Amino acid sequence: MGLPLLTAAPSLKVVVAGGHPGDPECGCAGTIARLTELGHDVVLLYLNRGEGYCGGAGLNRCAAIRTAETQDACRILKARPAFAGQYDGRGILDDPHYDAFDRVLAAENADVVLTQWPIDHHRDHRVISMLTLDAWWKARRKFALYFYEVAEDTTMFTPSDYVDISAVETRRRAACYAHASQQPDKWYPKQVEITRRRGAESGFAQAEAFARHPDSRRAPLP
Ligand SMILES: [Zn+2]
Repeated sequence: MGLPLLTAAPSLKVVVAGGHPGDPECGCAGTIARLTELGHDVVLLYLNRGEGYCGGAGLNRCAAIRTAETQDACRILKARPAFAGQYDGRGILDDPHYDAFDRVLAAENADVVLTQWPIDHHRDHRVISMLTLDAWWKARRKFALYFYEVAEDTTMFTPSDYVDISAVETRRRAACYAHASQQPDKWYPKQVEITRRRGAESGFAQAEAFARHPDSRRAPLP
């Protein structure tokens, strides 16, 4: 007969990569909230600082405004922001940028990476997806690799895994609404439609869905 478990499961390092401030939150805020509640260490890694759009404010102010919004969102989710140093709307895939992203990601030494889907509409989403995929192969598939979906952008997405986010709706919503310059009223309800549909598919009120790369090991998602 076994003793009750006295030790917590080992803490995981999880990186959630996204093209813009707000993308990891839009697709994964519920999962991030659940992971950090369980004591896991989560980093939100943004390709850029959202230099290209921040509502009515001048473009010269966007990076500062949106960096502050990511800091608020990460505080709500108990995660840490990190930035890969590219420019909003001008995502670049070439040797120097593959190498630079690989260094940033390798420094995090992640057990699990969630990234954007490679067939999204937005080029920056496709760029972060390709950069992550390239780093994963270069690291010999050392970390588990999953893709996530975002409203109005993701096409041809077939989930393999679901995370029940029904109990963390308040924090999920607050993290998305931290991105006030991005007019969350326009996209948040569409993301909720998605998570309700994913919930119906998986037997929860609301769920975030992920597609595991078929060659990736499985991660102990909550
Ligand atoms: Zn985006």
